[in-house]
Amino acid sequence: MGREDLNPSSLSAHIFYEMESKGMSFVLLPDMIVDNVTQITPALLEQHNISLLMLDFDNTIVPYTTDIPTEAFCRWLQTMAESQIQLCVVSNSRKPRVQVFCKKYGIDCITHARKPFCKGIKQCLQRYGVQPGEAALVGDQIYTDTLGGNSAGVQTILVRAIDNHNFWLKLRHLLEKPFIFAARKRRIDYE
Ligand SMILES: [Mg+2]
Repeated sequence: MGREDLNPSSLSAHIFYEMESKGMSFVLLPDMIVDNVTQITPALLEQHNISLLMLDFDNTIVPYTTDIPTEAFCRWLQTMAESQIQLCVVSNSRKPRVQVFCKKYGIDCITHARKPFCKGIKQCLQRYGVQPGEAALVGDQIYTDTLGGNSAGVQTILVRAIDNHNFWLKLRHLLEKPFIFAARKRRIDYE
């Protein structure tokens, strides 16, 4: 790479094409892309034969900076509760706020999940007795949620991070962009 390639955007493009040529990039491509978790309807999940939806927590349900969900999220939770879809938060977080939140809003949860490794995802599948093909993981990060979900054989849904409030989150998002672009190019995003 030349000097002009040393910005994060072209660096990420370079990583993508390197991985593409080695056939490794598919694990970083989500099956679906939506803006917000509230766009994931029971009908959409049933259409894809999904009975268990695993949810990342930080920046998927609420941003890092608050524990108060939006009204739209609360309505979505109600809709999901009235459907046949089972929900479980699968978060890497070690902070008590995840468990406190889940208890308050009646969502099952697994913390210390260690995504992109399969530990927490497999634990969740086992808990619900669901096959990987009948489960999906929704999250905002390609290098943890999408990679972890694809490695575990579950369907993967990428959401836009609610708020990349600091430099490192913004940088990471920049490094994800080639994969978001590639996934959209495969016409697999949900409109
Ligand atoms: Mg997240």
